[in-house]
Amino acid sequence: MTCPRVEVDLRKICQNTEIVVRRLKTRGITVTGVTKAVCGHPAIAQAMLDGGALGLAEARITNVQRLRKAGITDPITLIRTPMLSQAAAVVELCEASYNTQMVVISALADAAIRQDTVHGIILMVEMGDGREGIMPDDVAAIAPQVVALPGVALQGIGANFACLSGLAPDAAQIADLSALAFQVEQHRGVSLTTVSGGNSATLPWAFGGQPTGCINDLRLGEAILLGVDPVTAAPIDGLHQDAFTLIAEVIEVQTKPRPAPIRFANPTLAKHLAPHRQDTHRLILALGRQDTDISGLSMTLDHRLIGATSDHLVIGTSGPMPRVGSEIRFQMNYGALMQVMAAPDIKTELGRNRRTPQSPNTASKRIDLILA
Ligand SMILES: *Cc1c(COP(=O)(O)O)cnc(C)c1O
Repeated sequence: MTCPRVEVDLRKICQNTEIVVRRLKTRGITVTGVTKAVCGHPAIAQAMLDGGALGLAEARITNVQRLRKAGITDPITLIRTPMLSQAAAVVELCEASYNTQMVVISALADAAIRQDTVHGIILMVEMGDGREGIMPDDVAAIAPQVVALPGVALQGIGANFACLSGLAPDAAQIADLSALAFQVEQHRGVSLTTVSGGNSATLPWAFGGQPTGCINDLRLGEAILLGVDPVTAAPIDGLHQDAFTLIAEVIEVQTKPRPAPIRFANPTLAKHLAPHRQDTHRLILALGRQDTDISGLSMTLDHRLIGATSDHLVIGTSGPMPRVGSEIRFQMNYGALMQVMAAPDIKTELGRNRRTPQSPNTASKRIDLILA
């Protein structure tokens, strides 16, 4: 099998979706599956839909194109404010988009009229993350402008949390969003289909006992794909954390003297190097910074990251030495996953792992994969 590769267990992604969908259903909240971290991989998107996601959300129109080309006809919402230059493609490929700029909404409306369709608009409201969003005080003025514009329909409002600030929302911020939705509905006489309370960082709130108010949807990527809370990195109860495994091949096995302490001008480089370790057994893998965020990989305890360059990953081991040609398996965080899925040299193998992934110790044994 080709190396490096990422093995994707679609069943685990489907199960993660099912579990989150079921838990949120009791709270009156639906799930929109976010596929941007996997570059809109159609089979992974389909696993989310099979698990009960009501629709998909993407940040990039190129990824939406990939989903549509693969035959996915479910609703797709663009969650990154559309580029003005892509208005026509957004209307053509997406049912709706998140928006913050009236000039873009007008361009979407024009494109929709030309394409003889109606494009859904969800107003993204700034509720404290500091990234995109219109200010809450401006919603009352902007909502009626959208309602009055032919070619677009005001589908809802939403907020995003934690992406820039790293802070999970508190109950008051979400209650404010809900109150805003209520005001728009009451005073503007429109009924909002979607009130989207945020991304995976909103899950702890959603699983808690607080009243949900008008919130009826969450946009979930990381929680479904990696089974963790993006703010704390803590595993979410009942979810799989190992739906994705990165596999790299050993190209050199040596016993080397412990390197003399080295002084690094670049402190970020020094952080990833451990020249004082006792590890004298070293492996070099054919994987590097060009493929992924090395600091987002995890290995078993008897393996230790010594360093990485663009194409080489140097690992020290106190365990048994694997042979040249054997494979080492890694789990990834969100940043590492995102890069791996976009890396041209890393092949994606879809399957269902029959066994749980082995520790890298025994990685020379192949894991059984059923190709989808
Ligand atoms: C990335 C993103 C999401 C999904 O975030 P996760 O933490 O992966 O759940 C949702 N909404 C917006 C606007 C995003 O940019």
